[in-house]
Amino acid sequence: MATYPIRVFGDPVLKRPTREVVDIDGTFVRLVDSMFTTMYDAPGVGLAAPQVGVQQRFFVYDIGDDPKVLINPKIVEQTGEWSYEEGCLSIPGVTIEIVRPKLVTVEALDLDGNEVTVEGDELLGRVFLHEIDHLDGVLMFDRVEGDARKAAMREWRARELAGPTSRDRDHAL
Ligand SMILES: [Zn+2]
Repeated sequence: MATYPIRVFGDPVLKRPTREVVDIDGTFVRLVDSMFTTMYDAPGVGLAAPQVGVQQRFFVYDIGDDPKVLINPKIVEQTGEWSYEEGCLSIPGVTIEIVRPKLVTVEALDLDGNEVTVEGDELLGRVFLHEIDHLDGVLMFDRVEGDARKAAMREWRARELAGPTSRDRDHAL
């Protein structure tokens, strides 16, 4: 199965919002398969279409037990607060502590075109919020302000100069 190069910060495709998926056909299913391969290869636990240069509204994820694709996802409920040190496959080497809702409910289509409602708590909820951000052209840097943002940008520039290491993508999204 083919893998895609993962687009990194600075690539304009990461800042563009996506279009809804219209046809879940054979071509789309192969695209999803290749995204799973790309995500496992990275390795990461979530991957959104823009991260491989595809302007369509879907993402794949697997936090260890249940690989899934969510198509045209919509957040329908989010409650609580949870702080987590996020990493992003498109910003390798940088982690940012971000506070977001803890429990997240998403409506989407599955690969058969059926409507599904999925609930994510803590890490899974974080995957949903991070990947849906990607679908809206929003990156981790946009979720922090002031000194935290400056520190994250400094870390990114230092990493860019030093080059990637193998641990950079552990548990990234
Ligand atoms: Zn990401």
